[in-house]
Amino acid sequence: MIVIRGATTIERDDAEEIRGAVKELLEQIENRNSLARSEIVSIVFSSTSDIHSYYPAKAAREAGFESCSLFSAMEPEIDGGLKFCIRVMLFIEKNVTPHHVYLRGAKSLRKDISQKFNVAIDGPAGSGKSTLAKALAKDYKILYLDTGAMYRACALYALEHGVDLANESAVCDMMQKVDLSVVYQDGEQHTCLGGKDVSSEIREPRVSMAASVASKYPCVRVKMVEKQREIAGKMSCVLDGRDIGSFVLPDADFKFYLTASAEVRARRRFDELKAKGYDVNFDDLKREIEARDLQDSAREFSPLKKADDAIEIDSSEMTAEQVLAEIKKRMQEKI
Ligand code: C5P
Repeated sequence: MIVIRGATTIERDDAEEIRGAVKELLEQIENRNSLARSEIVSIVFSSTSDIHSYYPAKAAREAGFESCSLFSAMEPEIDGGLKFCIRVMLFIEKNVTPHHVYLRGAKSLRKDISQKFNVAIDGPAGSGKSTLAKALAKDYKILYLDTGAMYRACALYALEHGVDLANESAVCDMMQKVDLSVVYQDGEQHTCLGGKDVSSEIREPRVSMAASVASKYPCVRVKMVEKQREIAGKMSCVLDGRDIGSFVLPDADFKFYLTASAEVRARRRFDELKAKGYDVNFDDLKREIEARDLQDSAREFSPLKKADDAIEIDSSEMTAEQVLAEIKKRMQEKI
């Protein structure tokens, strides 16, 4: 005997909604676990106390689950708990690895259920994306994919091989030769060109503007986006970039768009580069950041853009810890 778990949410307390949601949830559980109806011994539902208009067990019977025993109960009201949520446990006469199913707003972040999920964090340079993405990935023990590093690596290749970045066809030819890989050691992303780790070189200030130029060409983006989708398709991860929520992963489970004033963003980059020992000038850096924003937002193919369904957070007046707490709160509200 095994137990399969699942959950879903409804928009409002309405009998039709409950019938639809219960049917969808049970059918998905059946499909994903290749279950025959006769293998289901019993189904136990619980629903949050804001649901009054229909019994999930009755909805299940109406959906054709009538050969097993059915039961529904109401959960206590818990502060901060999921709203309008229906949970289920199916007791199955079969010995296979269960695939738990979480639908709609009920996608779970619980480690024991290990649901795959992706978080998209977009925004302009210096808005705090990478600090946030790293912290979030560490907290949830999932992968962090820095997509900017991939464009930076292409730009570094061009700089090192004398490829004229203003010449689109030269850059496209170059892309046939670029052997870019992203590997992880102790949870840290390492970006490699031809097997050589270039993770520090790609952070050099000369690479930033070059990356912004290289990344406007479709032949560069298509290749990078393919890699990003492949990684995100296989495992839970946080991706930061410019077009993750709007183009790379339009179905990402969570989407955020981080902003901050140009002054604050330039200050952050200045402090970061100074700490690494680079001799940088604040005004030059601010000008470069503004030029990069303009170029990234104005390009034709997949520009820097807030996805319509992304949550925007202005981090100008917030510490990194405050941004992380806010994002986690917003994620909890959604699940
Ligand atoms: O985020 P980071 O500053 O490392 O990105 C470097 C450049 O790479 C950006 O200015 C942008 O032009 C490009 N980029 C992009 N799409 C992404 C990530 C970065 O075009 N998803």
